[in-house]
Amino acid sequence: MTKRDILILPEAKLRLVSDPVERVDDAVRQLADDMLETMYAAPGIGLAAIQIGEPRRMLVMDVAREDEDPDPMVVINPEIVWESPELSVYQEGCLSIPEYYADVERPARIGLRFLDREGAERELEADGLLATCLQHEIDHLNGVLFIDHISKLKRDRVMKKFQKQARLAEKS
Ligand code: ZN
Repeated sequence: MTKRDILILPEAKLRLVSDPVERVDDAVRQLADDMLETMYAAPGIGLAAIQIGEPRRMLVMDVAREDEDPDPMVVINPEIVWESPELSVYQEGCLSIPEYYADVERPARIGLRFLDREGAERELEADGLLATCLQHEIDHLNGVLFIDHISKLKRDRVMKKFQKQARLAEKS
């Protein structure tokens, strides 16, 4: 496993729409393992492949609490098959937008179809943090960031801050 660099806002690649994974082979499993290592090292609870510069429709997650055993999930080619009409609000953050948090409203429950690490078809009903986290990561596969769900005023402010940081980093 190799820890990889995480792309940070305003990196343009974060806006790419990722391509489906055609075949779940050893190279894909290797990428999933790298993503898990990168996510745990950050530390974070979810990471999409595009966040390490790979435009492929896959994500990793672990929403186990600190007092629980690790529960790594590998989700490939996810598809949301239904969403509850009820919404819930969570304070979200993102490894590509460090140290910024904001409340986001999303469907409280979802049904998901995906391939697991072995390429087997799976279905899952998710609620709570798992549902929110899955929707956040699936957004990444479509080039969408959680700041797209907040007001334009707040989003512009965050974008400016990160653009400025990127300029400063270039100069030094
Ligand atoms: Zn994110």
